[in-house]
Amino acid sequence: MNLDVVIIGGGLVGVASAHFLARGGARVCLIEKGDLNRGASGQNAGSLHFQMEHRLVEHGEAMTALAASMLPLSLDAIDRWGGITSELGEDDLDVVMHGGLMLAETPEQVAKLERKRAHEEKWGLPTRMLDQAEVREMAPYLTDTVLAASFCPVEGHGNPRLITSALARSALAQGVEIRSGTGVTAMRRRDGRWEVDVTGPDGEGDRIEADMVLNAGGAWAGRIATLAGLHIPVLPVALTMNATTPARPLIGHLIQHVGKRISMKQLREGNVLIGGGWSARMHRKGDQFDLSRRPASDLDSIQGNVTIALDLVPELEQMHLMRSWTGTVGVTSDSLPILGEVPQAPGYYVATGGSGFTLGLTYGALMAEHMLTRKTELDIDLFSPARFNHVNMFMGPK
Ligand SMILES: Cc1cc2nc3c(=O)[nH]c(=O)nc-3n(C[C@H](O)[C@H](O)[C@H](O)COP(=O)(O)OP(=O)(O)OC[C@H]3O[C@@H](n4cnc5c(N)ncnc54)[C@H](O)[C@@H]3O)c2cc1C
Repeated sequence: MNLDVVIIGGGLVGVASAHFLARGGARVCLIEKGDLNRGASGQNAGSLHFQMEHRLVEHGEAMTALAASMLPLSLDAIDRWGGITSELGEDDLDVVMHGGLMLAETPEQVAKLERKRAHEEKWGLPTRMLDQAEVREMAPYLTDTVLAASFCPVEGHGNPRLITSALARSALAQGVEIRSGTGVTAMRRRDGRWEVDVTGPDGEGDRIEADMVLNAGGAWAGRIATLAGLHIPVLPVALTMNATTPARPLIGHLIQHVGKRISMKQLREGNVLIGGGWSARMHRKGDQFDLSRRPASDLDSIQGNVTIALDLVPELEQMHLMRSWTGTVGVTSDSLPILGEVPQAPGYYVATGGSGFTLGLTYGALMAEHMLTRKTELDIDLFSPARFNHVNMFMGPK
């Protein structure tokens, strides 16, 4: 097949890109080293968090203002998640958008929440402040140390186990070739096209050619870029998640905190998922982190994470911790996503970083639009890999 695009990585970002590219008429092959959705996309907390997270507002006003420039991506994501069930013609993708609360427990945190909300208001994100009495009325399950909260009525959660496979079904139906168990081992640009060398499930080698390559490798994106002689500064970061045993319906919102690392939600099965950016331990191999192994759990992280959850929702004490697991996310050096074509490597595109579950559909749609039309309605210049031109002056072997 005369391919337009080879996508590397079968997580949410790669598969969503395949779906939208195919919908735009592109001939696409997606290659995934392991199985689809076995990376961060299948291990995450599933939070659809559109408010600016704790990690984005804890480094002062200038960094908060920069992070606020991602809010147009969140606005796009709100529409995409709201419409994805009907877009894919699926009965039930378990997408819940009942609202989310970001909590504050000290006067300083309330002030930070107000500053955060001012940025959100400027960019048009629907949020409003609730005082202590309003929080109690809306979320009586929360501890009474909560002084205020910002409420976003469209926050919620999606089911990481369902969305990627639904998008993959749609991509396949539109003619996308998906090759699982197939890892990219080398790539080069020759005569205006990209040659991508891969190794398949039985160790057999193959070469795929296409006009464009999309690196959707998540935590592996930096390593995949190296295969093309490029620097893409994505750092693999290991995170922990926790789930309780099922309980009666209690927590009706996505819960976050402006001053603490916590995300919490109750699934329809009754389990409460507790996360929010607590670390796990990556294995090492020589002087590299070993990304082929699932990170090890860290008991201090689990305890720290669960302690905050218990402080905020005292009734959690009635539940048992059922399972903890880890996953590896790709974090960019400046916390902004990397979306677009690498100027030194025409036809080589990257989509990674940021809150890739919440924004995964948006990344996929934007990349398809960008790759097919060379422009996007939403301005993504700020997220271009061109901001790393200063480290990509010399491209590696052609
Ligand atoms: C524990 C945890 C909780 C999180 N919680 C949230 C949350 O609540 N909300 C939110 O918005 N985000 C969350 N995230 C982040 C989110 O999960 C990721 O940003 C998102 O899933 C990234 O998707 P992706 O497709 O880019 O990467 P991935 O899903 O990691 O997919 C990358 C794929 O590339 C493949 N690959 C690697 N090397 C090669 C190669 N050489 N050849 C071919 N394929 C290759 C990998 O096998 C992998 O399947 C969380 C992440 C973690 C780990």
